Amino acid sequence: MNYASLEGKTAFVTGGARGIGKAAARGMALSGARVAIADIDIAAAEATAEELREEGLEAFAIQCDVTDPQSAADMAAAVVKKWGRLDIAFNNAGICINTPALDMTYAEWKKVLDINLTGVFLTSQAAGRIMKEQGGGSIINTASMSGHIVNIPQPQCTYNASKAGVILLTKSLAVEWAPYHIRVNSISPGYIATDMTLSAPQEWQVRWKDLTPTGRMGTPEELVSAVVYLASDSASYTTGSDIVIDGAFTCI
Ligand code: NAP
Repeated sequence: MNYASLEGKTAFVTGGARGIGKAAARGMALSGARVAIADIDIAAAEATAEELREEGLEAFAIQCDVTDPQSAADMAAAVVKKWGRLDIAFNNAGICINTPALDMTYAEWKKVLDINLTGVFLTSQAAGRIMKEQGGGSIINTASMSGHIVNIPQPQCTYNASKAGVILLTKSLAVEWAPYHIRVNSISPGYIATDMTLSAPQEWQVRWKDLTPTGRMGTPEELVSAVVYLASDSASYTTGSDIVIDGAFTCI
């Protein structure tokens, strides 16, 4: 048995155009899956899908706004239309807004919750409806160590609340959908070097590395094996779990 094989499986990755989603899409494709790159930025999604195809991997791009129920449903249906089934959903799109709670506008609060939590629910629901009909599947959600602890020095209460929500949503869906052979898990990365973190002020980045026992940020590639594992049949008894990958940040 090849423990990490995703041969014959099909997947979508939201926020797949760049960062963690792009690395995971490539990793799943290298493990044998056919992967739909779903992103709000269709030009960036097309570019990522083209990169994968140039490597001989099977991928296509599709525009999806995870906050829109119809867009989420259409995206999942497009995978089934193209490849006949949907085995893996990696619900990964997310944003962060750093505003102190006392200054936060309702629009800022709502935007983060809509994308990070409601978006994960909507794309999970779209995938779950298909997976129930076909007899099973694997859903993986990108939570964060911010769903477990409060980051400093940046003020990001809405992000932290959204990611804590993702972790318990994941567990709730795992319990509800276990009878349908749909596994639902999350990953909780620590600081990972992507546009999201590298665009932050230098002094924050220095502080983050100081607070991390391993003394550095992780790379998107360092999350890929966990995603491939959760997607694969090797994880057949793993559901409702959250895998923290944070360079030991949350240990202290
Ligand atoms: P990223 O590089 O900013 O990528 C996020 C992607 O999601 C972008 O392509 C973005 O498109 C897309 N997106 C935003 N809103 C969307 C929507 N409504 N519908 C569909 N796609 C949308 O971020 P990343 O660092 O890879 O983060 C990926 C996930 O990991 C997020 O959920 C994030 O919270 C989580 N995470 C990141 C870290 C970290 O340190 N980087 C740590 C823990 C968890 P646009 O560029 O057009 O906005």
